[in-house]
Amino acid sequence: MTSSSWVAGADGSLFSLSNLPYGVFSLADSARPRLGVAIGGFVLDLAAALPDITELREPTLNPLMAAGPARWAAVRERITDLLRDPPGNEAAARSDVTTHLHELGSVQMHLPFEVADYVDFYSSEHHARNLGRILRPGQPELGANWKHLPVGYHGRAGTVRVSGTPVVRPHGQRLSPDGQPEHGPSRRLDIEAEVGWVVGAPSPLGRAVPLHDFRDHVFGVCLVNDWSARDLQAWEYVPLGPFLGKSFLTSVSPWVVPLAALDAAWTTPPPRDTPVLAYLDDSGRRDALDLTLEVTVNGTVVSRPPFADMYWTAAQQLAHLTANGASLRTGDLFASGTVSGPAPDQYGSLIELSHNGTTPFPLADGSMRSFLENGDEVTITATAPGADGSTIGFGAVTGRVVVGPGA
Ligand code: MN
Repeated sequence: MTSSSWVAGADGSLFSLSNLPYGVFSLADSARPRLGVAIGGFVLDLAAALPDITELREPTLNPLMAAGPARWAAVRERITDLLRDPPGNEAAARSDVTTHLHELGSVQMHLPFEVADYVDFYSSEHHARNLGRILRPGQPELGANWKHLPVGYHGRAGTVRVSGTPVVRPHGQRLSPDGQPEHGPSRRLDIEAEVGWVVGAPSPLGRAVPLHDFRDHVFGVCLVNDWSARDLQAWEYVPLGPFLGKSFLTSVSPWVVPLAALDAAWTTPPPRDTPVLAYLDDSGRRDALDLTLEVTVNGTVVSRPPFADMYWTAAQQLAHLTANGASLRTGDLFASGTVSGPAPDQYGSLIELSHNGTTPFPLADGSMRSFLENGDEVTITATAPGADGSTIGFGAVTGRVVVGPGA
């Protein structure tokens, strides 16, 4: 089967026929959101192009995601048929499809799925060690549990928003320099560059999802910026973990790349130096994803975190979060935790890049940063190897820091 598309500019782009990420868009002249796939510099209006597929009629991915892997594959095949080169695409058919292509620059993107439950992990060993040194100096970098289970917490699904949503600087309680609690705008607003996994098919209460059932449930991948107020977080997080320092906003990319686009990107996770219990034992499995993130602040690339290096894989995270019998719902989002590699230019948060504010780093305009200033714009992008030598793009998750009305 050919992997080239008749859509101008699609072949060789990050949104080639090998990718076909799903999103929800609206046209400038209409407020009605609709489901689409990106192809080259365009988005294909799916309900208009494939009116017989009922799951594509809603302005959200949830109905398609709920339908399960066999349906996902069938729908992807139908979309591929519309967009790939002949044989099978006569000029007349092409012109039919062309009327349902809209330039990406002319549409507005929306949250691609209704977020059910949101879980955030802490699965980069490099990040966890860096944060351990910063937050708990003199103590072991990793907690006693860290190599035995993927540490995580339940977040706030209602504040997961699409890329472009303004980042209103949160107010909260933190310690003043003389050690007294005070309330005010965060002074240590940070990012966390993460990879998000979107659950499609649900699971019943009381049944764990083993490692090898991962693909029966997970639909695709998006990018996540888990905005974090470090001063609020440091004061509130003991003993129950992140709370208001994280829940003011979590941004996701507008595109969900289906797992079907990522077959060429799976690889072997890093060696495990501590044996794990049977339900987490992924010996011989290739569940790590060879994806590389790129973080820019006001246009300056500050980091390129490598995702293949994550100690815990998404399959282990899903197995763990259901190991107690917790059910999955369509639209559940679980995020990887900050992705950091071993090198300083691979750190996925500013608290690491600035060594907790002690060594500010430069931007292209000559200014220095430790944490985010009002007006700063952060963008995270990513790529992964795709089929036939292609490169899979994930779009971007971006946000600009603004002063809140309570300031
Ligand atoms: Mn996080």
